[in-house]
Amino acid sequence: MANAADTTLDAPALTLSRMAHPAPTSAEARAAVLANPGFGTHFTDHMVVIEWTEGRGWHDGVIGPRGPIALDPAASVLHYAQEIFEGLKAYTHPDGSIALFRPEANAARFNASAARLAMPALPEETFVEAVKQLVLADRDWIPAQDGASLYLRPFMIATEAFLGVRAAKSYKFIVIASPAGNYFKSGAPAVSIWVSEYTRAAPGGTGAAKCGGNYAASLVPTAEAFQRGHDQVLFLDAAEHKWVEELGGMNLFFALDDGSLITPPLSGTILPGITRDSLLTMAREEGLNVREERYSIDQWRADAASGRLLECFACGTAAVVTPVGRVAQGDSDFTIGSGGPGQLTARLKDRLVSIQRGSAPDPHGWVVKIG
Ligand SMILES: *Cc1c(COP(=O)(O)O)cnc(C)c1O
Repeated sequence: MANAADTTLDAPALTLSRMAHPAPTSAEARAAVLANPGFGTHFTDHMVVIEWTEGRGWHDGVIGPRGPIALDPAASVLHYAQEIFEGLKAYTHPDGSIALFRPEANAARFNASAARLAMPALPEETFVEAVKQLVLADRDWIPAQDGASLYLRPFMIATEAFLGVRAAKSYKFIVIASPAGNYFKSGAPAVSIWVSEYTRAAPGGTGAAKCGGNYAASLVPTAEAFQRGHDQVLFLDAAEHKWVEELGGMNLFFALDDGSLITPPLSGTILPGITRDSLLTMAREEGLNVREERYSIDQWRADAASGRLLECFACGTAAVVTPVGRVAQGDSDFTIGSGGPGQLTARLKDRLVSIQRGSAPDPHGWVVKIG
């Protein structure tokens, strides 16, 4: 639990009881996984589960062995997709300490998603404490190699057995962890993206909430992108099919030759990325002319052709900062700059990663040391 030396973590709202793991992974098996973790395929030994029921609120928090959860087949999450999630990473710093990056921002966004999906709010300190306890229990699972980290996946599901359509009266909050290497298997210097004719989010919908349903709807367009040999799918706005919104799970930035950096505004149909927000802050510090404004696909193509667009990159916790080299729509495509990583992209990525990994000062207090 939070100790006296913690200035950033207040006493937890809820104490997690501990269940010992009867048979944790052997050191050899763990080392084999950590040597080549990939993304999202291997999991640590523990998980956190906290229950919520109407009238009682959050209770019965446990940190124990990771394993299957029992759900009634009528549980509303299985029928009406009442589910939200988060994604953040734990890093080992050069001094051996373990750090999280802006976990309070994930906790706040989790509650914003919960509100949109008619789910109960979780006290932010409980969210952060649950993540922290899991990382400490599984600290041996944080990969050591360059660029690797422990990816944390907090999520909430509706568990009430009821087929009527209304918000459920019981939920589970769960946190699992997965050692993570590079998000993009190819390791290519820049990704290629496919502009989908499908829509991800409409005004008034759930585009700004981090909910599984948004991802379910993106799987067909993502498969289409993969089939055509691209790495990611890009969505335009629902109303005019003209304005660039975001990728399936990453926000986008455009760097122009006049020193301006453009990213689509948080209009309610875009996920408010914490990486996006951090990069906006750093770019403003660099004196770039940062603009949160709409950017059309036609402008994008024209700016790439004229050379006015120097760089484009996508960002998110999983893949951090990833240059976009090529864009395809229908039968045509275009290349941005040299088609490879640009200088600004590389510099912003390096600055962000250095703060996250503790090799540069943290002027904004984004890093939370947990052990
Ligand atoms: C999570 C997510 C992002 C990136 O958010 P970060 O906080 O930077 O990880 C962007 N778009 C979508 C749709 C997302 O789900």
